[in-house]
Amino acid sequence: MALLVVGSVAYDALESPYGKVGRTLGGAATYFAVSAAFFTHVHLVAVVGDDFQANDEAILRKRSIDIDGLERTPGKCFFWAGRYSENLNERVTLATELNVFADFKPRLPQKYTNSRFVFLANIAPDLQRDVLRQVKGTPKLVAMDTMNYWIERTNDELRETLKHVDILMINDSETRQLSNEHNLLRAARHIFKMGPSTLVVKRGEYGAMMVDKNGVFCVPAFPLEEPHDPTGAGDSFAGGFMGYLAGVGSKSDAALRRAMVYGSVLGSFTVERFGLDRLLTLKKSEIHARARHFAKLTQFTL
Ligand code: AMP
Repeated sequence: MALLVVGSVAYDALESPYGKVGRTLGGAATYFAVSAAFFTHVHLVAVVGDDFQANDEAILRKRSIDIDGLERTPGKCFFWAGRYSENLNERVTLATELNVFADFKPRLPQKYTNSRFVFLANIAPDLQRDVLRQVKGTPKLVAMDTMNYWIERTNDELRETLKHVDILMINDSETRQLSNEHNLLRAARHIFKMGPSTLVVKRGEYGAMMVDKNGVFCVPAFPLEEPHDPTGAGDSFAGGFMGYLAGVGSKSDAALRRAMVYGSVLGSFTVERFGLDRLLTLKKSEIHARARHFAKLTQFTL
C-alpha cells in the first residue's frame, strides 16, 4: 500500500566529533521516504526552491518514491544546521531557515488522495493538517512527528493536529516537553488525552519504546562501535516503522512490534555515516540480516 508523507526536504550543514559537511541533502521527509521506500511505494509532499540540485532529485526519483507532490518554487530550500556533542547524545541547532516552507500551501496530486497510510513528518503543524484534510475518507493509520521548534512556537496548532493522529512518534525530550511530565509512562497517559492512542518514544542510543492500550513494548538500539552522525535517525526510524506497516498493510499488535524493529534497523544504518550516505548504499538483504540480528540480541529463556 502506498504511504503518504509530508515534511521537510532540506539542505543540512552537519558537525559531529567525526567530521563536518557543509551542505548536504537532508530533511525529515527525505530520510523518511528513502527509508520507507525499502518496503513500499512512497508519495512525497514537500516544497523545494530553485537551488534544489538535479542529482538530489535523482536520489529520490531512482527509488520507489513518487515526487509529483514535490513542488518547486522560486526561493531557497529549507536549511538546517546542527552540531553534536562528544558522545553524540546532544545536539544544538545552529540555524533553521524555513525559506520556501514559510509560504507553502500543499496540494495533493489526485493519485495521493486515496493513501491509507499517512505520515506527517516534522514540519509546521498547520501544513501537516492541510495535507491530512486532502486525504479522502479515514486512513487506516496516521502517524506524526514533531520537534521542540514547533512545540515552542506553534503549540495551539500542534494540539489541533494531534487530535487527528493515531500514533505520535517523538524523542524523549520532546515527550517530556509536550506533556510536562518527566516520567515517560505518565507522559504517555497525558498525550493520549490529546488524541493519539499510541506513543512511540525514540530514545537514541537507548532504543525505542511503544506505549498503547496493550501495554509497553521496547526495542534496543543496535549496538554500533563507530556511530558517526545521528542526523535523520529519528526520521529513518519512522520510515522503517511506517514503511513496514504500509508494506504488509496491517496495524495489528504483532505488526507494530515488528515495525519497531525495522524502525530501529533503519535508524541504526543512518547513524553509521554522515547524512544520507549509508542509506544510499543500503541493500534490502542487509536490512533483513540486521532484523534477524535484533531477534538474537533480545532472545532469552526463562
Ligand atoms: P532528526 O535528526 O531525525 O531529528 O531529523 C533531522 C532532519 O530534520 C534534518 O535533516 C533537518 O533538515 C530536519 N529539520 C530540522 N529542524 C526542522 C524543523 N524545525 N522542521 C522540519 N524539519 C527540520
